[in-house]
Amino acid sequence: MGLVPWNIEMIVLYDYKNNIEIVGTEQRPFKNIQKLITTKEELIPLVKDIDFPKNNLIIRPNNEDDQFIKKDFLSVDELFNEFDLLLEKSINGVVFVENDHRAHRSVNRMEAIRYATIDLIIKCHSFCPECSSPGFSVNRGEGNLPCEYCGFESDTFKYLVYKCNKCSFEKRIERSDITNVDQQYCNYCNP
Ligand SMILES: [Zn+2]
Ligand SMILES: [Zn+2]
Repeated sequence: MGLVPWNIEMIVLYDYKNNIEIVGTEQRPFKNIQKLITTKEELIPLVKDIDFPKNNLIIRPNNEDDQFIKKDFLSVDELFNEFDLLLEKSINGVVFVENDHRAHRSVNRMEAIRYATIDLIIKCHSFCPECSSPGFSVNRGEGNLPCEYCGFESDTFKYLVYKCNKCSFEKRIERSDITNVDQQYCNYCNP
């Protein structure tokens, strides 16, 4: 996805009975904040943008490597007060602000972890047609969907390949969400 910041969460269940790993995943973009600021006013758009304090911030004086850290804010007022104190402490008159990515301080991560867990539960209930082990799930995409305009094969996959982690049995299923791709993704129409 180029340079868009990306949040990937994985929840792993180790099944000792079958000796396999089942992995639930969720991925989505997130709003990354890493900024040097000099005034409290600069915090206002950041706070609005990330639904603070549900998604929290970490601030420190001088630069991103400073060991003096303030975090775990419960309100905007508390953030502002600590910002003032850090600004006084700062030798170069700036404060570094960034996201607090710890899961208990990020409601966005909590939500992503919830979806990763749902994905894990769904995989735990999907059984291999050959050996009946749980975790029978999509391993990769294969094949090429045609262009809707010229029918030329695109780089977009046409099949989902399910694989068993226990016996390696595979099953190829045609994807049901789309049957062809837009011209803009066609190497012939839009090289
Ligand atoms: Zn085409
Ligand atoms: Zn199997």
